[in-house]
Amino acid sequence: PSEVSGKVLQYYEGIKNRDRSYLAKSITLVESTRKDHKQQAQQLLSMILDAQHNNNECKPTFRIGLSGPPGVGKSTFIESFGLHILSQGHRVSVLTIDPSSTRNGGSILGDKTRMPKLSHQENAYIRPSPSRGTLARNTNEAIILCEAAGYDVCLVETVGVGQSETMVADIVDMFILMVPPAGGDEIQGLKKGIVEISDLVIVNKADGPLAASAREALIEYTSALKYLQPITPYWKPQVTSVSAKTNMGIENAWNITMSYLNAMRESGEFQRKRSEQRKLWMWRQIKTELLDRLKSDESIRKLVNTFEQKVFNGEMTSGTAADYVVDKFTHNLTQNSIS
Ligand code: GDP
Repeated sequence: PSEVSGKVLQYYEGIKNRDRSYLAKSITLVESTRKDHKQQAQQLLSMILDAQHNNNECKPTFRIGLSGPPGVGKSTFIESFGLHILSQGHRVSVLTIDPSSTRNGGSILGDKTRMPKLSHQENAYIRPSPSRGTLARNTNEAIILCEAAGYDVCLVETVGVGQSETMVADIVDMFILMVPPAGGDEIQGLKKGIVEISDLVIVNKADGPLAASAREALIEYTSALKYLQPITPYWKPQVTSVSAKTNMGIENAWNITMSYLNAMRESGEFQRKRSEQRKLWMWRQIKTELLDRLKSDESIRKLVNTFEQKVFNGEMTSGTAADYVVDKFTHNLTQNSIS
């Protein structure tokens, strides 16, 4: 490995000193696709991981994922939930994943105005979603940076579209699904898989005229969860209702997340899950990295163009084409390493 640059050392010190501007710069660094940036980011992360590994007094951290359809009240909830977490003596970071990037293009202003009170708190750090780049890898690494800067609770928010919520569940310690106060067909309409991976379902907007339907939704989700196989033997997924707007149920929701944390820690499941996640992401990373390299290989691109047409026309099977492409790619690799 090459020598650590002055810039990396400076970023490292900045993060250790809990300097927000260095945290922001460091996250930008891990989001960058530039080769020299990538290398610097890896150096920075290694320094952080090494220090954590050698320091037994490392403060325990808690990563919470929150997903739900647009308009369900995620930002309103994070605002009141975040303020409550701060009142419990924690420092909170909020990362947003928005693959569609429809929401104000993920601008800083956009995310700050979504959580106005929380964003002004000394012990809170809100990071807008990156507009591009490898989301999952970035988020994983951004969490590590936030934790190194002393934010012991990290909220990772995602809109309930596409693959993002299952991806988030694989990054965090606890996954929370937020749902609107409606039952029946609405539950059917939710992607089945997402309720299955939830450690806690929160029915929001349990206030005013919506209180009655929130109660119904609570009952329906409770019975729906009964028929699902729990993800871990140490925790039975729960359902609760809140009003993010009036703060009703916020403290209770935090208490439930704390009992989850305790159950996971005491059983040893907490560390086991994190270890499994690291392994999982290593393999996901290998897959994306290999595919990126394959796609950027000039000779492969030509081959792929021809094969795609043949497969399209039915002149060649998909499997044969895939085998050829992979064989050619690995052949190129060995040629390159010899020369
Ligand atoms: P997000 O898209 O999931 O982040 O949702 P927002 O937090 O932006 O909320 C969407 C809308 O729902 C806004 O008009 C909020 O004022 C409203 N809202 C959020 N939480 C509550 C709540 O607890 N009760 C009621 N009645 N409205 C809420």
